[in-house]
Amino acid sequence: MADTRGDGSDVRRRLPSVDEVLRQDWARALEERHGRASVLRHLRAILDEARESISRGDSAAVAQIAASLAGRLAQRLERAAAPSLVPVINATGVVIHTNLGRAPLSPEAAARVAELASSYSNLEYDLEAGDRGDREVHAEARLRELLGAEGTVVVNNNAAAVLLAVNTLAEGREVLVSRGELVEIGGSFRIPDVIGKSGATLREVGTTNRTRLSDYRAALGPNTGLILKVHPSNFRIVGFTESPPPADLAALARGAGVAFVEDLGSGLLSPLPGLEGERTVADSLATGVDLVTFSGDKLLGGPQAGLAAGRRTLTDAMRRNPLYRALRVDKMTLAALDAVLADHEGGRNAERVPVQRMLGLDAAAVRGRAQALADGLRAACPQARVDVWEGSSAVGGGAAPTLEIPTALVAVGHAVLGPERLAGALRSGDPPVVARVADDRLILDLRTVRPEEEPALRRSLIRVLTGG
Ligand SMILES: *Cc1c(COP(=O)(O)O)cnc(C)c1O
Repeated sequence: MADTRGDGSDVRRRLPSVDEVLRQDWARALEERHGRASVLRHLRAILDEARESISRGDSAAVAQIAASLAGRLAQRLERAAAPSLVPVINATGVVIHTNLGRAPLSPEAAARVAELASSYSNLEYDLEAGDRGDREVHAEARLRELLGAEGTVVVNNNAAAVLLAVNTLAEGREVLVSRGELVEIGGSFRIPDVIGKSGATLREVGTTNRTRLSDYRAALGPNTGLILKVHPSNFRIVGFTESPPPADLAALARGAGVAFVEDLGSGLLSPLPGLEGERTVADSLATGVDLVTFSGDKLLGGPQAGLAAGRRTLTDAMRRNPLYRALRVDKMTLAALDAVLADHEGGRNAERVPVQRMLGLDAAAVRGRAQALADGLRAACPQARVDVWEGSSAVGGGAAPTLEIPTALVAVGHAVLGPERLAGALRSGDPPVVARVADDRLILDLRTVRPEEEPALRRSLIRVLTGG
């Protein structure tokens, strides 16, 4: 296979032209399936790569490409046609996993979304009057009822709710925030930046570990727009700490005639076992907070959304803000939110709302499933070492970061393959499985795996452990 002229022309001749390829039956079949434009684009890309190999003098690579052109092209076209966003099995035990899409919806809520997505709806149409209606009546009426709140606003996420609240209530004025609450929540939500972008000025109050009511009082002035309290979510300051009770802060704000807003983060609607320390939205409103904001897809267990609830004058002002139009949610979000709120309203949330059901599973229930999976793997994979360990699951999503929920873990080792290799192979499966690696083992926590996903999980594990 020597390149006799030394300029690559021999190997180049072994590469077919685009026209030659397109005359092949297999290429016609691909064209039928994927369309001419896609076939041309990917074919040209493959031939370009082959020519690059020639200029590098890598004739073996060119020969390989020429010999496997049909397979390569088909594979690229399949990959390009496949959806990018796909379901994955979450075997991490982190219930509200932001990178894995936070809260899964119940089948009933998902069915409502599908129904609304593919049809026209009364989104902004009053069916009784036969006239223009208001999208606010759908999920929000239920939300007001549930929370006993005068007014609500639903926007794209909690970051948007905070932005809209601060812009509406304090643009051009100061927002008082304790230095202990200037938090960053995952992917670049930073309280100082959000306040800056909302057109208000941050006025830091107190110190990182101790902020007193007198600090807030001293910072209040004619230019104060609002007092903002922020849930620390993903961290805890322990030791010599102090912050004023929310009720005292509410009284101070009321006396000064400024709004008191609380970014509660997780949005717990009713107390959950194990999360007794978390304030619910109703707790927050009951202490005199004028407006509370929270996420729809954390502990509430619904779609991505930002919910604000509180005094009607404030929520009405937020709705009149032109920013609201840019931040509001679509019909699919409202359909999902309405379904999940109906589960909360009916007291069915512990069984029906997936994140709440998963958080409520006791360790014994997880252990039974873990044992069954471990037994199956031991029987099918002689190379594997499988144990069931005690461990803990996490709430995730910035809620209760120090809370460890007792669980049972399936710990998998392999005679040859390291745990990172196993984890990587699981991620590249169909469906992809995301697990943890710790103590030189692959670790699976079935708390976050639906029972109906277990057969697929078992198959993936067996494939990976037997080198299939
Ligand atoms: C999670 C969180 C946010 C961000 O919420 P998104 O819905 O992701 O925008 C803001 N504030 C607090 C306190 C949070 O915990």
